[in-house]
Amino acid sequence: MFNFFKPKIRTRFAPSPTGFVHLGSLRSALYEYLFAKSQGGTFFLRIEDTDQTREVEGSVENLLKVLEWAGIKPDEGVVIGADGKPTELGKFGPYTQSKRLPLYQKYAEELVAKGLAYYCFCTSERLEELRHTQEANKLPTRYDGQCKNLSATEVAQRLAAGEKHVIRMKIPDNRVIEFNDMIRGTVKVHTKEIDDQVILKADGFPTYHLAAVVDDHLMKSTHIIRAEEWLPSTPKHILLYEYFGWAAPVYAHLPLILNPDKSKLSKRQGDVAVEDYIKAGYLPEALVNYVALLGWNPGTEKEIFSMEELVKEFSFSKVHKAGAVFDIKKLDWMNGEYLKKLPNTKFVQLAQPYLEQNVGVIPEGLDLEKIMILEKDRVAKLSEMGEGIKFLFTDDLSYAGTSLIWKKSDGAGAKTTLSLVAEELGKYSDWSKANLEKSLIEFIKERGLTNGEVLWPLRVALTGQEKSPTPFEVAEILGKEKTLDRINTAIEKLA
Ligand code: GLU
Repeated sequence: MFNFFKPKIRTRFAPSPTGFVHLGSLRSALYEYLFAKSQGGTFFLRIEDTDQTREVEGSVENLLKVLEWAGIKPDEGVVIGADGKPTELGKFGPYTQSKRLPLYQKYAEELVAKGLAYYCFCTSERLEELRHTQEANKLPTRYDGQCKNLSATEVAQRLAAGEKHVIRMKIPDNRVIEFNDMIRGTVKVHTKEIDDQVILKADGFPTYHLAAVVDDHLMKSTHIIRAEEWLPSTPKHILLYEYFGWAAPVYAHLPLILNPDKSKLSKRQGDVAVEDYIKAGYLPEALVNYVALLGWNPGTEKEIFSMEELVKEFSFSKVHKAGAVFDIKKLDWMNGEYLKKLPNTKFVQLAQPYLEQNVGVIPEGLDLEKIMILEKDRVAKLSEMGEGIKFLFTDDLSYAGTSLIWKKSDGAGAKTTLSLVAEELGKYSDWSKANLEKSLIEFIKERGLTNGEVLWPLRVALTGQEKSPTPFEVAEILGKEKTLDRINTAIEKLA
């Protein structure tokens, strides 16, 4: 009997705590999560904080909150503890790189001992000068290997003298590094394209390259799923695995996310921070659904996917190489679809803070729930709540009298119809939207009028706007007294 032993799939999200969460990072985390879940594997979170100069206070807490909001829950690593603060879970910790420094130092020195890495004492001034000269001569900017062949005695002396140094990995002279990428197939890079990469910095911190490789090995990552911008780093990582004698994981480098003009999505051209989308009132289900489709397509017309459906259907065979355009209109449409599907009570609960923020003081006596539900099918995101219905919250509707005139009518006509409508509405005691609509439409027919000549001036009278919900919906919310007041004000404007 064969025993098809397959190692348990383990993916990781390995962000650096530099502030906000980029949409691209959300997508990486999502694909890592979906892949792990679809394979019955484990998804863990590691914090890559080796560049202390870029660290922003509070980033880890924020990151965990964003992941929780999105429903992308790590099984292991840095997670939210019972007290709501970041804590660590799992047997491969610590999962925060700054807590693992001795480990990286040990591994860097192991490579020096094997002759696969070397101490480099070059000063930053020398390196800068070198770069300038190379740039001036139109040469690739590379370390020139000055410290590569220092004698053991010289190295020992300089170390003993306390000279500032880094450790660089040696890149073999004439080799092609090859690896398989789940999205790109076989990738080959010649070592002449690769610099003698620093792996341990002068401050004793590892660079990303060493730390990521050591951790992915020790934390048993089976698949590395990350953005395309990391592709040039991968040959160096493959070499590091080889130098240590470890098996390399499987890679997938995700396509770029682009602006509609095909430039790389960047902060300058709009919102890239997930936090901004949360603030604007996008639903997590909608953003996750949309982000899932940035690079992956299910191969069918289906566009709306729950997280469970994504787990079932996601596969790297349907992730493409070409950049994916971020289309905010599509996201808005999708969010609108999700908002429409929310139960009314849930919608009201989510929408109320946005409405209050947008319209300020809400006059007493208004049925807020009804108002919000009126907006439910109209808004693309919750931050738009109230924008289209400000007329409900103020009696000061500054509109021009001429906008009351329907295109096939005139001022006198508008005035007459509005007077007739006021008289008619004055008789109604059932002020429900349904009754208002039924009775008023009957009235229009009986009088031989047209919907346009009656409903247009009525709607403008009630809202001051040429585009708005129907006059029946608005009248119901305003109540009889306000409705009649507004019609009378309109009649005066036409006088
Ligand atoms: N720390 C890297 C980042 O901030 C992780 C890249 C990787 O996944 O290897 O994106």
